[in-house]
Amino acid sequence: MRWQQGRRSRNIEDRRGGGRAAPRRKGGSGMGFMMTAALVVGGLIFGVNPMTLLNLAGGASGLTGGAGSLTGGSAGGVQYDASASQDDQAGQFVSSILGYTEDTWTKIFASYGAQYKAPKLVLFSKAVSSGCGTQSSAAGPFYCPGDSQIYIDTDFFRELQKMGAPGDFAMAYVIGHEVAHHIQNLEGISMKVQSLQRRVSKVESNRLSVLTELQADCYAGVWAHHTQKRTQFLEEGDLEEGLNAAAQIGDDTLLRKAGRTPHESMYTHGSAAQRQQWFTEGLRNGDVGRCNTFRDAGVSL
Ligand SMILES: [Zn+2]
Repeated sequence: MRWQQGRRSRNIEDRRGGGRAAPRRKGGSGMGFMMTAALVVGGLIFGVNPMTLLNLAGGASGLTGGAGSLTGGSAGGVQYDASASQDDQAGQFVSSILGYTEDTWTKIFASYGAQYKAPKLVLFSKAVSSGCGTQSSAAGPFYCPGDSQIYIDTDFFRELQKMGAPGDFAMAYVIGHEVAHHIQNLEGISMKVQSLQRRVSKVESNRLSVLTELQADCYAGVWAHHTQKRTQFLEEGDLEEGLNAAAQIGDDTLLRKAGRTPHESMYTHGSAAQRQQWFTEGLRNGDVGRCNTFRDAGVSL
């Protein structure tokens, strides 16, 4: 990727260095790493329904007993100053990619006569307190619809490599995916899915989660499509990195790695094939209208 060329976003808050590990909590709409962490730790396996979180996290005390003992990263971070942090590769990268999402989504929204309201992104280490409760890094990057913020512990990028998804475009896809959850929030999709999830079975709720996640993958593809057209920010091999990442974080891949037999009813983010398919759909066509995973599955929101 030629990400160095990109302008740096100013919508980044730096809270790194302030947190310490907190117990795993239910998260926002993450990429599915929460599940890996859970499997590895041997704790909850499919307790994560990203959208239900908001119902529970409204109160100040959080989700579980003992919330008082949780310490997130310092609540008030500082605005990230990219120009003063040249050596901070991870910060520079996130800042550049977020800048690309801002410029591209602003243009896409404008083409529909709408105005894009960009999300803030919080960089943290180990743990962070968010509008969706206190979250540990083990949960992976996530978007919290309640405060419209994306949360990323940049150590996660190393984790991604370990998971067999190396490359800068793999990381850009992660950011593009989280920004896509923000788009869904702006569109009112997150709210609709959430309200539907309250009324259905666990299996059906998981299915709605999968459709939400696949749509986010598709939107990430749409973003990459238009950003490429505008800036030629991709180099040879980048698309493969993105597609590989989509497969490595597919629910079936993660389950198999954890020694379990994948079954569709357990999925919350989609199989490797589905994630690749929808990411490709967005990449190829650059059309948000083609990302209606819900209609495709016969679900009306
Ligand atoms: Zn997601």
